Amino acid sequence: MGVRNCSRCGKIFNYVAGQPICETCRKELETDFQKVKDYIKENPNQGIKEVAEGCEVSEGQIKQWVREERLEFSKGAGVLNCEQCGAPIATGRFCEKCKAAMTGNLNASIQPGMEARRKAAMDAAAAAVKNKGGMRFIKN
Ligand SMILES: [Zn+2]
Ligand SMILES: [Zn+2]
Repeated sequence: MGVRNCSRCGKIFNYVAGQPICETCRKELETDFQKVKDYIKENPNQGIKEVAEGCEVSEGQIKQWVREERLEFSKGAGVLNCEQCGAPIATGRFCEKCKAAMTGNLNASIQPGMEARRKAAMDAAAAAVKNKGGMRFIKN
């Protein structure tokens, strides 16, 4: 805990955790988030730019929520594409396939909430055990 300047309005506040923004901005952002979420639900085929204009929220903020996987777009609308292979996605930065491939490469960096990545890592571990002829067992 410490005193910091809000990265949104510049006001000094007591920083606890998460985004370095003050309580007022946090509430305002939450209101914006709900507004954007409802807007996307009602206008599923609009791009980030249109949503930003329609809600008067910055494109950067919307992209941040997408990266945090808090906002979902319709996959069919083609608003978001996997940064790795370009496949249409609904949220986040990568498609399931690329996420799984990355888990294979970076087993050490499993993040909470990333169910697909964790599952892929467990499958890979199970396969590795099988390849060793079942001589070793993993305790859960
Ligand atoms: Zn603030
Ligand atoms: Zn991909």
